[in-house]
Order: sequence, then structure tokens, then C-alpha cells
Amino acid sequence: MASSFVPPLTGFLRSCHQEFVVDDSGAVADYIPELTRANPAHFGVSLATIDGYIYEVGDSAAPFTIQSISKAFVFALALETLGHERVESVIGVEPSGEAFNSIRLTGDNKPFNPMVNAGAIACSGLIYQHAGEGAFDLIHRTLGRFAGRKLDIDEAVFASERATGDRNRAIAWLLRNYSVLRDDVDAVLDAYFRQCAVLVTARDLAVMAATLANSGRNPLTGDQIISPYVVARTLSVMTSSGMYDYAGEWIYRVGIPAKSGVGGGIIAALPAQLGLGTFSPRLDSHGNSVRGLKVCEALSAHFGLHVLNRSDDVRTCIISDYNAAGISSRRNRQNVELAILQERAGDIRVIELVGALSFAAMDYVSRRLAGEGRQAELLILDFRRVPSATAAAARLLRAALAGLADSGAKIILAGFEKDSPLWEAINAADVALPKLHHFPLLDDAIEWAEDQVIYRFGGFEGLAKTTHLSEQALLAGLTPDEIDHIAAIGFARAFKTGERIIAAGDPAASLFFLQCGMVSVKLPSGARLATISPGMAFGEMALIERERSADVWADTVVQCLELPLNAYASFRKSYPECGELVMRNLASLLAKRLMLANAKVDLLSAY
Ligand code: GLN
Repeated sequence: MASSFVPPLTGFLRSCHQEFVVDDSGAVADYIPELTRANPAHFGVSLATIDGYIYEVGDSAAPFTIQSISKAFVFALALETLGHERVESVIGVEPSGEAFNSIRLTGDNKPFNPMVNAGAIACSGLIYQHAGEGAFDLIHRTLGRFAGRKLDIDEAVFASERATGDRNRAIAWLLRNYSVLRDDVDAVLDAYFRQCAVLVTARDLAVMAATLANSGRNPLTGDQIISPYVVARTLSVMTSSGMYDYAGEWIYRVGIPAKSGVGGGIIAALPAQLGLGTFSPRLDSHGNSVRGLKVCEALSAHFGLHVLNRSDDVRTCIISDYNAAGISSRRNRQNVELAILQERAGDIRVIELVGALSFAAMDYVSRRLAGEGRQAELLILDFRRVPSATAAAARLLRAALAGLADSGAKIILAGFEKDSPLWEAINAADVALPKLHHFPLLDDAIEWAEDQVIYRFGGFEGLAKTTHLSEQALLAGLTPDEIDHIAAIGFARAFKTGERIIAAGDPAASLFFLQCGMVSVKLPSGARLATISPGMAFGEMALIERERSADVWADTVVQCLELPLNAYASFRKSYPECGELVMRNLASLLAKRLMLANAKVDLLSAY
């Protein structure tokens, strides 16, 4: 029997663990005495995806203190609660090129960035100004929301750092001297030391990193903790300064925003893809976990995950681009209508988009729209396969729609609901959109566009109000006498708008010839299979099947002729060659339907 399949990433992380666990270089941090109690052999790796799957290898559940990794999250909290102007007025964003505990400030006496101790203490000071004695509680709760669970505190590590943290105390007093800190220095330092002593596991770190990768929404709990704006700023300082004086080397070699802590943890957050958390207490001379660094390097190198290593082909965002010559709505039209649509096929253009729309993708779409040849008068853009659009893409789209509307095109957007995030992105409140038509379903949009063309070319005037049985495609070839006979054995039926004429699952005991009005064939789910015009039959599958396979609803007031199968059976006995003719006609109608369906499938696979 085959052993059960495991996702390839499990295997990759396991082999990383196996390869690096033997590396016992580096040393456990000892400048905070309590940290020397860490087990140097511990090694845990966890990776959380933005859809909430968690990989875990080794000691991924072993608790350790978060230390400097907290800095990234407290900076994010400060930006989110106090706004960027306030935060930027006291803390810079320049890499310092120095060790995490450097006492140096910038020329205008600000901490270089929030990832070195000076900047992090200033950040905790800002939270203290905002929340007073409740500062640590707020920080603690926020870290817990990032991890998706309530986190404990290592009181011994806290007490140990508090008792020995004179260098941080010196930094804090220096900040107070320059009015970066305004409050009780000891209270701010207590909040800072405590935030460093929050206990996490590699798994927690992976979830916290994945929350940053997922635009600030925890992929496990769904909690939106910080805005995408704050995420981008936080990842920026992690990129330039997250690994202290190794930051330049890090972005060059690994290229994933990251943050390390002297407790032995590292987080790496790859936007829109994953969060990685590693734990191994032995540190190198920069204060970064030796094995953790290796895992990050291996993951990035093996899969080419450097953030600047991108290779998207924008042309794949258009899955198909066609006009009405290749496709039609599910409304079965009468011959007059079909003739007009064939003639004016170029008037309707449909572009189906796929994938998240980026700036470059939307630029490509806009050039295709502006491109060669006569512009279609009715342009349908289908977004059914587009989950999201960046703000830049939405901006280009709005400008393109405005330009197209100016050039006289009627624009129809399809494939989304008006309460979707996509529509929210497109319809930014501050700009006026041109007049647009909107249909949640592409098929409805195509039908509406067809109606516009038919109407403009007088097609509806040419349509018979009530059709005679002799016009029925199913009865083509029958003599007037034979048709009269069928008319005599059928029953005239009338239905009101919205009435159900046929119910799926019922025995199929008759067929109907539509003479006036319109009906739609629908699945019980409500999905429309076809709309039928006068001159066509419905329920005709009763000639082959014993049970109704779909519902038929009256879209308008309907008049039709119902032909019971038992009456038709005796008619066929007297006119056997008629029975054969009707079956041939049915086969030819079904063949046409199949050809149309094939054309649609072909259009979508041609790209
Ligand atoms: N609490 C530690 C300190 O302030 C955090 C340092 C770190 O993790 N790099 O020194």
C-alpha cells in the first residue's frame, strides 16, 4: 500500500532541520543572565502560509522569550495607534549599521530606527504616552493577537534583564535628555523589558510573520490587526534594519524581511506568501541565531524567494478576448435576431480577465483596449476570475474606463457583486466613474449587449408577436395537414410571469411549443441554462428522457401548446415518417447546441 503523501514543504523543512541541527557553532546570549538557562540543543522551525496552514519541524512548540522580535510588532502598534507622523517625529528609519544595543543617535538626536534598542525603547515610550500604565497590557494583547493566542511572560527573564539592563537604562536616559522619552523612564523600561520577556514558540512566530505577510490579517483567526499601510512600513524597517549590522548582507543574500531576537528566534515574512518562525538559541557575533539564519538562507535559495526576484508575465491576465461571432448568451434567439448578431458581431467585445490585477497587468489590459482596429461599441469586462486589484491597478482601470466612455463605448462590467472587495477597490470614493452597466453574471451581460445590438438594428420589430406551429424548428418538414393534426391533439396553455411551468424531477409526460413570450430553463440552483423565444420548443427532451432534468419558468406572460406524449404516440402510429422527422430535427437542434458549447470551451482554451 502506498504511504500517505505529505506536502513537499514538509520534506524540505525536515531536511533543513536534519542538515543544520548538527551545527553547534555560536553561543547562547549571556548578557541577560537568565538567558543562559536556555537549552542550546533546541531547534524548531515552523512555516505558516497565508491560507492558514502550519508546517512544524523539531522543537517548534518549545517556549522562549521573544526579545527583539517584539520590536517589529510594537513599532507596528505605534504606527497603527498614533499615526506615522507622530512616530516618525521621534524615531528615524535609517539603518544604523551598528549593533542592536548601540548608544549612538542620529545627528538630530533621534534613534536611527525602531529595530535597534534605542528606537524600540522610544516606541515603547510612545505606547506609554498613549496608554500610561496600561502600556504593557496593550502590547501584550497585541502580540497575542498576532500569534492568535494569549502569550505567557517569563517573569524570571524579565527580572533578570531589569536587574542587569544598565546599558538599556543608559540609552533610555539619553532619550529622555533629548525629550524622545517624556515619562517615567523606569516605567517605560519596565514595559520594554516585559515585552522582550513574552514567551513564544517557533509556531507562534510563524503565525505572527504570516500575519505581516497577509496584509495584517491573522490567517488563523481572521483578525485584522494592523492596516496594509502599517504592514508595508513595518516590513520596510525589518528589511533595512531587522538583522542589525547584518542587515545589508541579509537583504542581499536572503532577501526576505526579517527580525531576530537574542532569545534565539527569527521571523521572516514574505508578503502575500508565507511567514517563517525559527528557534535555536546559539547566536553569531551579530546576535542572530546561527541555525535560524541557515534555514532562512536555504528556503530563500532553494525556492528563489528573494523579494526582488519577480518574474510575472502580465499577458496571462487576459484569459480570453472575443467578439459576438464566437459566442452568444444562453438566450436562444430567433432567426431575425441571429442574422443581426452575425452581421454586427464586431460591435460586442468580451474580455475575460484572470488573477489578481497588478499595476503592470492592468496597464497591459488598457493597452489591449486602446489597441488596433475599430473599437467595439459594447465592451464587456469580466472579472469573475479576478479576486482582487491593487490600488494602482484600480486607478489605471478607472482612467481606462473614463477614456473608453469618452470615445463613445458602452461599458459593461461583469463577474462580481457590488458588495465585493473588488468593486470597493475599483469604485474608490474620491473619483467619479463613467456611466457603467453592471451584471453579476457574464451571460446576463452578453445577453444585454446582444439586445442592444438587435434593438439598434430593428430586430425586435421584425419578431413575430405570436408564432404559428409551422415555424417550430422541431416540426420542420411536416406538411400543413400533419401540423394541423398536432395542433388538434395539443392543449393551449397560458402562464403568468414568474410561474413555474416544469419542475425538475417530475415525470416528463409532454412537450411544449412556445408561441408567445419567453421562458428560461434553469437548474434548481437558479443557474440559467437557456432562455427560449417564440418558435422554439421546451421540455422536448421528454422525447428521450423519462424525467424532467431542469425547471422551466415563464419570464413573461406565456402562451404555448402542450403536447402530451401519449397523444403524440398515437399520432406517430398513424404518421410513422413524421415521428422519424421530428427525431431528426431534435438531433440537429441538440447538435447545434453542442457545437455552441464546444465553441465556448475552445475560446477559453485557446489562450
Ligand atoms: N531585551 C534585549 C535587549 O534589549 C533584546 C535584544 C535583542 O533581542 N537583540 O537587549
